[in-house]
Amino acid sequence: DRIVTGDALQEEELLEQTLRPQTLHQYLGQEKVKSHLDIFIKAAKLREETLDHVLLYGPPGLGKTTLAAVIANEMGVQLRTTSGPAIERPGDLAAILTSLEPGDVLFIDEIHRLPRTVEEVLYPAMEDFCLDIVIGKGPSARSVRLDLPPFTLVGATTRAGLLSSPLRDRFGVLSRLEYYEASELASIVERTSSILQVEIEKPAAFEIARRARGTPRIANRILRRVRDFAQVKGDGSITLSLASEALDLLQVDRLGLDHIDHKLLRGIIEKFRGGPVGLDTISATIGEESHTIEDVYEPYLLQIGFLQRTPRGRMVTPLVYEHFKMEVPEV
Ligand code: ADP
Repeated sequence: DRIVTGDALQEEELLEQTLRPQTLHQYLGQEKVKSHLDIFIKAAKLREETLDHVLLYGPPGLGKTTLAAVIANEMGVQLRTTSGPAIERPGDLAAILTSLEPGDVLFIDEIHRLPRTVEEVLYPAMEDFCLDIVIGKGPSARSVRLDLPPFTLVGATTRAGLLSSPLRDRFGVLSRLEYYEASELASIVERTSSILQVEIEKPAAFEIARRARGTPRIANRILRRVRDFAQVKGDGSITLSLASEALDLLQVDRLGLDHIDHKLLRGIIEKFRGGPVGLDTISATIGEESHTIEDVYEPYLLQIGFLQRTPRGRMVTPLVYEHFKMEVPEV
C-alpha cells in the first residue's frame, strides 16, 4: 500500500473515527471554510432553521467527512452517512430520506457517483423537501407527492466540476478544502499524538507534517508508522532524528514524494527530456493508468509546482531538477 495516498486504507477506518475532531474549534486549519460555516451555522440556529445544503470539495483525506460530522454536531442534529455508489436505485434514496428526523444532516460521500435516476429524485428533495413518486404502471400510473422532513444535505466530491450543474446549483454553500500548511498539519500531528498517548518533539511533528503532502490523513498515517518505529528502535517517544530515520526507511522523501512520484518525474525527464509529453504516453511508459495519474499522482505534483499542464502535455519544472540534484538542461 502506498503510504502517501490520501485515500483511506481499509484498516484505518475505525481508528480514524477516534481521531476525528468533533467541533469547529477542534477542526484545525481550513480557516476560510470554517469561518463561513461558523456564521451560517449560527444564523441557522438563531432563525431555528435547517442549514442550507453544503457541497465540500477537494482531494481525499483533507477532512470532508470529518467536517460533515462537525456540522451535524454544531447544529445539534444527527448525522446519516452514505455514498454515491451505495445508492443504486431511487427507492434506496427514498428510504433514507423518509427515515430522517427534522434538521438531520445527510452526508453523501462521492456524490458525483450517484446514478442519474437517483440524482433526479434528489432535486425536489433538496429544493422543496418532497419526493415525487410514481405509483402504478402504464396509463393508470400517477405521481404522488410525499413531504419530507427538512434536512441538510452535505455532499462531498474530489472536484466540483464532476457534478452535473443542476445538482451543483442546488447547494447553497460551496466550500473548497485546500491542502494544509505544514504548521497546521504539525498541530494536527500533535493533537493525534496526545490522543494516541505518544510523546513527540515539536520538530519531529513538523518533520512529519512537511512530508505529509498537505493532507491530515497522510500525516496521521505517517505518525502511526513512526510511532511503531519509535517503540521498536527507541523508548517510544518520537524525536526528530527518529522521525527522519523512519521516514527515510519508509521512502517518503523530504517533500512527501515516494517511489511512484519519482518514477513519474524521472520518467518524464529521462525519456522525454522533461516534456511536454501526453498523458497517455506517460501512462504507457510508466505502466500506470492515465486516470490514476490524473486523479491520484498528479494533483499534489501540480500543487507544489513540480508539474505543469500545457496544451501539448505534461512538463516537469526546474524545481524537479533541483529536487533530484540534476542539472536543468539547456533549451
Ligand atoms: P475526506 O473525507 O476528505 O477524505 P476525512 O474527513 O475522512 O477526509 O479525514 C481523514 C482523517 O484526517 C480523519 O480521520 C481526521 O482524523 C483527520 N482530519 C481531517 N481534517 C482534520 C482537521 N481539520 N483537523 C484534525 N484532523 C483532521
